[in-house]
Amino acid sequence: MHPTAFPKPGHDHSHCTRELLMRAEQACAASGARLTPLRRKVLKSVAESHHASGAYDIIERLARTGPRPAPISIYRALEFLQDQGLVHKIESRNAFVACTHGEHNGDAVMLICSDCGIVAEMDAGDAVAELTSRAAALGFSSNVTVVEMTGCCGECGRDA
Ligand SMILES: [Zn+2]
Ligand SMILES: [Zn+2]
Ligand SMILES: [Zn+2]
Repeated sequence: MHPTAFPKPGHDHSHCTRELLMRAEQACAASGARLTPLRRKVLKSVAESHHASGAYDIIERLARTGPRPAPISIYRALEFLQDQGLVHKIESRNAFVACTHGEHNGDAVMLICSDCGIVAEMDAGDAVAELTSRAAALGFSSNVTVVEMTGCCGECGRDA
């Protein structure tokens, strides 16, 4: 797999969605978790594009085609999807994006284009382990490390 999966503009996005839903079914079957209709709807909504969606964007989208879901049930569904590795949280934006990485072999760095808002995942390699051990050298034991980069994607850079 390509180390940095920036989705190409104009690609067949229905393929991304299909692939993600298939992965969701498999992940849930493997872990014995239930992909309830709400969890599935939330996943589809997050996966609508490669841009990050806030919880309230998701609520608005779901409210267009059905009853307005309660924020707490959306947050719970998002938590579940994160646990299954299907959705990532963009901490700096308090928003969520569907995983495009397939299998995770370690930590991922999220790359966020501040122009078009597209989000891609990059394999962090040893970078997170390196940060963790530097922190440990300072006597700090970390349990959560978030690495996010904001900048300009190749497509937006080309237009400039
Ligand atoms: Zn796509
Ligand atoms: Zn991912
Ligand atoms: Zn861009």
